[in-house]
Amino acid sequence: MATFRQRALDEASTHKTGRYYMEEGPVSNYFGQNVLDLDKMSNYMSPKAYEAVLASVKFGAKLDLSAADEIAAGMMKWAMENGATHYTHLFQPLTDSTAEKHEAFITVKDGRPFEKFNGSALVQQEPDASSFPNGGLRNTFEARGYSAWDPLSPVFLMDQTLCIPSVFVSYTGEALDTKVPNLKSLHALSEAATKVVNLFDENVSSVKVNLGIEQEYFLVDEALYNARPDLMLCNRTVIGHTSAKDQQLEDHYFGAIPSRVSCFMKDFETEAYKLGILLQTRHNEVAPNQFECAPVYCEAIKAIDQNMMLMIVMQKVAEKHHLKVILHEKPFDGVNGSGKHCNWSIVTDTGVNLLSPGKTPTKNLQFLSFYASVLKAVYKHHYLLMTSVATLGNSYRLGGHEAPPAVMSVFSGSTLYRVFQSILGMKDADVASGSQESIRIVNSIPEIFPDNTDRNRTSPFAFTGNRFEFRAVGSSQNVASAVYVVNSVVAESLNEFRSEVDALEAAGEDRSSAVMAVVRKFISESRDIMFEGNGYSKEWEKESQARGLRAVRNVPESYEVYHEQQTVELFSKLGVLAPNEVQARFEILNETYVKKLQIEARIIGDMCLNHVIPAAVKYQNVLIENVNGIKEIFGKGYLEFCSAEIETLKKISTYINSISIYVEQLVEARKKANRVEDMAERAKMYSHEVKDMMDKVRENADKLEMLIDDEMWTLPKYRELLFF
Ligand code: ADP
Ligand code: MG
Repeated sequence: MATFRQRALDEASTHKTGRYYMEEGPVSNYFGQNVLDLDKMSNYMSPKAYEAVLASVKFGAKLDLSAADEIAAGMMKWAMENGATHYTHLFQPLTDSTAEKHEAFITVKDGRPFEKFNGSALVQQEPDASSFPNGGLRNTFEARGYSAWDPLSPVFLMDQTLCIPSVFVSYTGEALDTKVPNLKSLHALSEAATKVVNLFDENVSSVKVNLGIEQEYFLVDEALYNARPDLMLCNRTVIGHTSAKDQQLEDHYFGAIPSRVSCFMKDFETEAYKLGILLQTRHNEVAPNQFECAPVYCEAIKAIDQNMMLMIVMQKVAEKHHLKVILHEKPFDGVNGSGKHCNWSIVTDTGVNLLSPGKTPTKNLQFLSFYASVLKAVYKHHYLLMTSVATLGNSYRLGGHEAPPAVMSVFSGSTLYRVFQSILGMKDADVASGSQESIRIVNSIPEIFPDNTDRNRTSPFAFTGNRFEFRAVGSSQNVASAVYVVNSVVAESLNEFRSEVDALEAAGEDRSSAVMAVVRKFISESRDIMFEGNGYSKEWEKESQARGLRAVRNVPESYEVYHEQQTVELFSKLGVLAPNEVQARFEILNETYVKKLQIEARIIGDMCLNHVIPAAVKYQNVLIENVNGIKEIFGKGYLEFCSAEIETLKKISTYINSISIYVEQLVEARKKANRVEDMAERAKMYSHEVKDMMDKVRENADKLEMLIDDEMWTLPKYRELLFF
């Protein structure tokens, strides 16, 4: 067999048995061991310095430098006791990954070596902002960017390095990361939600967001991965015929976890536990070699930081197991892609989940106020929300037959849906007291006991009993950029809710009828976003269009939503992003799209010219030799005995020719697009012409894969990648 592939398969077969590399023992012995939480911190500094930390965590108070010096010294002491030699600020630039720049504690003065970490190094680092996407926010003459410790996230240890979770801003103060707008959106949401809760409960003074982030991923054997240039460079296969068997038997989802995989899972969970990440579930996903894990939900910033850490930890631990973690949204054609479901809820400082229907009519009125506000928010900004998850990777998944559709809708479940219908006066007959789901109207306020098991897996934004599940987020994304959009649109809607109630009260309405009137108005205005049926169906595609819902059919085109007035206003009114920060994101999104697609386009060309065509030519030569041999033996009537070979030869030639032509046209399409100055226009051109040409190249390459002698095919095939 072609040595390239054979070597990979031989090597992969030596990796088959699983083993554990991490320590055993009860998780409680080491849970959180690598995190310096507030409790531990108090042991490493004076009460005064500790008070300063608390004040900045709780009230966002600024640290003065003497306190910062002491806090830094305490952190270094703890880190060194645990083997650390370096520190780094860890921030989340606009690349969907994290960035770090390690600095050693060690320094030398007067020939004497000693370790040093002072307050200013804790509070601020200056990575060169010009090396990160900045969307024009950085003047060319001023490359500086600042990363600054975010005390809301505790510092932790990874690879003998003290990691300091940070925000990243430009010299002039604009956000160059996903964390800053997220922090601002959480603040805006807290203010808006508090105003609405205060209609019912004066004791609430703040509201926070809880997130539970489910992470889907694929595992591929490292040797096979290394033999696929496309996986290595784009985390996705750009060619590859589907395997005869993939997920059609539905035997993988929740199936028995292979032992090698469960060893890997246990090991990365151990590392995650040490970082205080409370992983709770793990299971096989729908596609072969696809898996999922989920932590117990927690406060949003922490949940996002932990998800970013988790992705790093998984990839590091996988190396020990000779595995590669594929976080790409659609690594393999023809089988399911991967998402990162964001379970989103809002809770008061008094511990009440505002998306949990209450047992009393007043509590229900509060629940309905929040639910109606979310509905209206999602309706008004449905296209922006879908765009917040629109990336090149996710575009291969969204709108497919297995993934959330490309158009936004909200699934509420049958009980709630009927409540809304009755609120709108559409179906009064259904509102029967004592009916099974007990939808009772008490003083015109319905009593609700929704059924938590009511699930719809085809909805991009589904209510699941006490939270919404935003299911369209991509598996490799930093969810912050989707979450701050959710937070912002809901904050805007809650602000409007409160103003409208205030106006009605001022006009003499009593509170509960004023609230109920606004609930009804909001539900009525946003009824088009509600959809209870199958989101993957053709009917819904048509129906959603008839309702005027805008689908993300083309990624760069969707980015234009960042130029729409209601988007720019939304972010600036709430103080989440200034117009120039929105514009910077627009540019970065387009640039990232172009760069990623450019890499994919190059790699598909290379693979075809260096792997596919040479293998095809080799096989053609074998066939030619065969035909010549037959001719020698049978003379004139030889054709009768080699018509199949000749047919195959013809087909191979046709495919080879098509590939050569299309690869050339692909290069031309890229060149033409690259000549377009405007990045947004270039991205659009890439999305049409370059992508179309890639599809054509692939189609022919995949056909050749089916024709060529398996022994001669150099690239690991889908069946090998998916069933190691
Ligand atoms: P499923 O796959 O059935 O949706 P999982 O158990 O895989 O469920 O994941 C559900 C996620 O939702 C978990 O991370 C869980 O902690 C989280 N979650 C549960 N309740 C809430 C809530 N009130 N707010 C936010 N997240 C929640
Ligand atoms: Mg799950």
